[in-house]
Amino acid sequence: MVKRHPTAKIKRILAHFGRGDALSERVRRTLVRSLYTQPTSLAIGALAGLCATSVVALSSDNRSLVLLSVLLSIIAITRIIAAFGLSPDDDGTSTRKLEIFYELGAFSYALVLGLIAGLSLLLRVGPQLEVLMIANSLCYGVGICARNAGRPAIALGQLALAVCPVMIACLIIGTLPFVTLAITITLLLPAMASITMNVFKVLRESISAAETSALLADRMQVLARTDVVTGLANRAGLNHAMVETLMDLPDGQMLALYWLDLDRFKEVNDLLGHPVGDRVLSEIARRLRAAAPVDATVSRFGGDEFIIFCEISSRKECEQLAARLLDEIVRPVRIDGDRLEVQASMGISILPEDGNDSDALMQRADLALYHAKVNGRNQICFYDQSMSRDLVRRREIEAELRSAIVNNELSIFFQPIVDLESGKIRAFEALVRWFHPQKGELKPDEFIPVAEETGVIVTLGNWITAQAAKAAAQWPDDVTIAVNLSPLQIKAPGAALGVLAALRDAGLDPCRLELEVTESVFLEDSQSTSHFIEVLSQAGVRFALDDFGTGYSSLGYIHKYPFSKIKVDRSFVSGPNVDRKSDAIIRAVAELGATLEMEIVAEGLETIEQVQAVRDAGCTLGQGYYFSRAVPDYLAAMLLTKERVTDDGRKLAG
Ligand code: C2E
Ligand code: CA
Ligand code: CA
Repeated sequence: MVKRHPTAKIKRILAHFGRGDALSERVRRTLVRSLYTQPTSLAIGALAGLCATSVVALSSDNRSLVLLSVLLSIIAITRIIAAFGLSPDDDGTSTRKLEIFYELGAFSYALVLGLIAGLSLLLRVGPQLEVLMIANSLCYGVGICARNAGRPAIALGQLALAVCPVMIACLIIGTLPFVTLAITITLLLPAMASITMNVFKVLRESISAAETSALLADRMQVLARTDVVTGLANRAGLNHAMVETLMDLPDGQMLALYWLDLDRFKEVNDLLGHPVGDRVLSEIARRLRAAAPVDATVSRFGGDEFIIFCEISSRKECEQLAARLLDEIVRPVRIDGDRLEVQASMGISILPEDGNDSDALMQRADLALYHAKVNGRNQICFYDQSMSRDLVRRREIEAELRSAIVNNELSIFFQPIVDLESGKIRAFEALVRWFHPQKGELKPDEFIPVAEETGVIVTLGNWITAQAAKAAAQWPDDVTIAVNLSPLQIKAPGAALGVLAALRDAGLDPCRLELEVTESVFLEDSQSTSHFIEVLSQAGVRFALDDFGTGYSSLGYIHKYPFSKIKVDRSFVSGPNVDRKSDAIIRAVAELGATLEMEIVAEGLETIEQVQAVRDAGCTLGQGYYFSRAVPDYLAAMLLTKERVTDDGRKLAG
């Protein structure tokens, strides 16, 4: 097996990152920096040299030695000042400049020291002074090799300059001890060169390995903070950016947090597959990045949620950016020639208005997003304090809902559905009510969504069906009962069997039960929905499509499933947006009903004019306060009795 050299491995890693040059420059800088570390050792060396040469110069009283000694002092002092003054940590000083400066000082110092030592020998200044200088230059040469091994050229150059003049002087003098010394010095040079090179290699490799692992660690951190699909920051990246931004935020600076959630993105994944879903996400990520300010943090928070976080100067600017971001999303996405339309809901919180830390901002933008979704999606919603109050109330409702069933706080009210021709009650819709001991009467719009979110709707729904069936069993056979079903109830295991069991227990004929579903039932998991509808309609249960006109109003569902009724949403009948268009829509739906033999119910009838209008438009049934509000079971029974009694009276009279 070929064993790779560690440096080869390092080079491979560097090549992988394409940063080899940058790295070797960093290694080089670290090595050059080693020349400047511990300036004290440099100062001690210089002082030792100065003392020795001064002693020799003064004792010998030779002019050349005195001059050289003065020169050495000047060089030494300059170097000491420079060593303390030039900071290798200051990135302004280039590596090359530091190196040249060090080389000049080091070489001139070593040369002058060597010259003083050599000259002292040639001038035969006396055995003690000669020993002092030989020892000084040799010690300096050997010591400096170890100290400066990080730059071997400098280290070996200094050694050669410090000892060669001594070696030459020894040869000139030519006595046996001096020639022996000259030979020793000659052998010392290659020996020191080899030692220095070894130390250098070890140094370089360890620095290089340390640098590489630092680079790898940096790279890992970047990866850990990046989303693989879109290349945006992920949750960790967002947290990190938020902490950093908030830490250096100047006083009074505003920040905005935009939390975006793509509407019904699950359908894109389910219908077209995850690879296409990923491409849509990438394209949206690219658009958001391009539309957001340069210094904004744009992140994918997971799934189909994006969070954008940036400084803003005013609420107006924040609104403009929000609109721009949403515009970018709704622009159709083209994938392999297909045109996809994506919509999104957005919740926004602003610092300092809505909160002062990242947790508060996130929580509030999330609440605002929830409101944007509940209000019908595809819209922007700014946080306001009432949302927090709603949340508190929702939490309370959530906590109390389960016990409400057990404590008999819930009851079913019944609202008649009337034949618009004969004026007779044909059915009652069961509508749940909660009489809370402290909060008073709670409307289903407030607690049904909570029951759906928490899954309590399954238990609650079964209870409602059972109660409604029991009440209906007391009514005449031609009066039916309509019960509302939530999507979650239909998806629950054994849902169809549960309904059939409730009918059996109450002794109610299945054809007297009508289940009202909205289009949202068909959006998810159509298989279990189809099964549910199939099993129950075979047993005789009927289905009504509720709130028609508020969702997709797809004719596909009407075609696919056996609906016996369509309930036109009350927004087409009463309320501020009713106009000629709504009338035209009701007429069209009524015509459709007549052709397909389905009954059309107009909801929300409050006045005689509205009743006349929907009857003229072709609706067969009506429901609303004009006829009656939802009433308790005994009043519903009374309404029926009254109707029958009057009927009988009329018959008798007739
Ligand atoms: P929905 O199924 O559309 O029920 C009709 C709603 O319109 C009822 O409100 C009813 O009281 C109201 N309404 C009836 N006539 C008029 C009118 O003339 N004018 C106006 N302005 N409103 C009228 P409610 O009882 O508050 O129920 C609201 C919604 O809560 C229902 O809408 C239904 O979606 C849901 N819900 C109610 N009871 C149940 C239930 O037992 N199970 C489930 N899953 N949902 C329920
Ligand atoms: Ca309904
Ligand atoms: Ca309705």
